[in-house]
Amino acid sequence: MKRIGLIGGMSWESTAIYYRLINQSVRARLGGHASADIVLRSLDFAPVELLQRAGDWVGLDAMMAQAAQDVEAAGADVVLLCTNTMHRCADAIEATISIPLLHIAEPLELALDELEIETIGLLGTRYTMEQSFYRERLEEAGIEVLVPEEPDLSEVHRIIYEELVAGRIQESSRKAYKEIMEQLAGDGADAIVLGCTEIGLLVGPDDALVPILDTTILHAQAAVEWALS
Ligand code: GLU
Repeated sequence: MKRIGLIGGMSWESTAIYYRLINQSVRARLGGHASADIVLRSLDFAPVELLQRAGDWVGLDAMMAQAAQDVEAAGADVVLLCTNTMHRCADAIEATISIPLLHIAEPLELALDELEIETIGLLGTRYTMEQSFYRERLEEAGIEVLVPEEPDLSEVHRIIYEELVAGRIQESSRKAYKEIMEQLAGDGADAIVLGCTEIGLLVGPDDALVPILDTTILHAQAAVEWALS
C-alpha cells in the first residue's frame, strides 16, 4: 500500500472526514485490521483565512508549497490538498515536489463524465465560484459551470466561513442551500457539485432533485484507489 499525504486543516472539520473516509474504505477493501498509511500535515486555518481575505495568493502559494514539501519529506507517495479553494495554489505545489498532487478536480471530472453530466451548479467559497483556477479547468473538460447569482453567492460563502468551518450546522442554512440548489437546477444544472470540502456537513444526496457530487467523498475515494493501485 502506498502512503497518502494529506494537507489539511482547511478546515480540520473536513480533514477529519477525509481521514475517516480513507480509513473506512481501506478497511472495506482489504479487510482484517487494515487501515490507510497516511501522513497528515494539518495547518492552522487562521493565517490561511487571513491571507485569502487579503488576496495574498503569493503568500499562500509559499505556505502550500512548504506543506507539500513537509509531506513529501515524511515519505508520502502522493499529496492531496483537502480543500477545493487552495487548489488555486496547485501549480506552486507541483513545482516544488517530485511526488504527484492528486488534484481534487480529477475524480470530479471522471464522475461527471461517467454520469454524462454536461452542466453543473457549483457551490463553494467565493474564490472557487468566481475565480478561474477551478472553473476553467472544468470548462476545458467540456463542462458548463453555473454558480449562484448575488446575493445567494455571498450567502453560500458566508455560511462556509461563519458556520461550516467552525462545525456549526444550522437548519436555516440547510434551507438556504436547498433553495439555492433548486434554483441552479431550475437554471439548467444537471447536477450540483459540492465544491467545498465542508458542504457535505450541511447537505446530502437527498437535498436536491438532481444528483449531488461531493468533492470530499470523490477525492478521498480517489486517494484510496491510488494507494491500492
Ligand atoms: N474547505 C474549503 C474548500 O474546500 C474552504 C476552506 C478553505 O478556504 O480552504 O474550499
